[in-house]
Parts: sequence; C-alpha cells; structure tokens
Amino acid sequence: MEIKKTRNTEKQNLVRDILSKTAHTMSVEDIMAAMPIKVNKTTIYRILDRFAEKGEVHFVTGKNGKAYYALCNNCGISHKIHNHIHFECQVCKEVTCQPNTLNIPNLEGFTIQETQFLVIGICNKCKK
Ligand SMILES: [Zn+2]
Ligand SMILES: [Zn+2]
Ligand SMILES: [Zn+2]
Repeated sequence: MEIKKTRNTEKQNLVRDILSKTAHTMSVEDIMAAMPIKVNKTTIYRILDRFAEKGEVHFVTGKNGKAYYALCNNCGISHKIHNHIHFECQVCKEVTCQPNTLNIPNLEGFTIQETQFLVIGICNKCKK
C-alpha cells in the first residue's frame, strides 16, 4: 500500500511538472508521450480528473473532441467558470490559453456549471 501511494504521488508530480513546462495545453496523449516513465492512459486521465476537481488544472475540448489540459493560475472566482479564451491553431494544432477574457452573460433561468471558450484559426507562429 505504502509503495503504491508513493508511486501515485510521483506520477502526479510528473504530470504537474510536464504541464508547468509547456507553453500550450496538452492532450492526454501529449502528456503520456512526455512522461519519463511508462504510465497508461487511464492513470493519466485519473490524475487529471483529480487535478481538475481540486482546481489545479482546467481543460478545453478541441475541434477534434479531445480534451486539452492546462495548469490553473489566477483563474478567478471559480475553477469551473473559466472566462479566458483558448486558441486552437489549424496548422500546428496547438491549443493555447489566451490572456483575453470574456464576460460570462447571466443566462436568465439557467445555471452555468462550467464554461469553455475556444477560438479556432491560425496562430502567430504559423502565419509567417
Ligand atoms: Zn482554474
Ligand atoms: Zn500554429
Ligand atoms: Zn486555459
């Protein structure tokens, strides 16, 4: 039991470390490929789920339906209600968190539980 716990913590730290070093968001596959040790997809999903619950990471669903994860920092009031924009580049496929934020409208009679903002186009690196 003790060993398993240590290993899980180690894996969590690795995922956190990988996400902290990237300038863009990462899919589960990206994280898996960047891991220095072999960790299966389910385990990474589980780690990311736990991080998302705690407000350590958030994700946005890309055009291909995949979730792209990023570490949370200065997320504001609620980690479920992120109001910054994500940009998905059609050329390099990178999904990045943008500093630009949107005002989330008050939807009469509806309860907002989560928000995701995705803008699709060509990034400044690929435009040149
Ligand atoms: Zn957040
Ligand atoms: Zn690009
Ligand atoms: Zn983001």
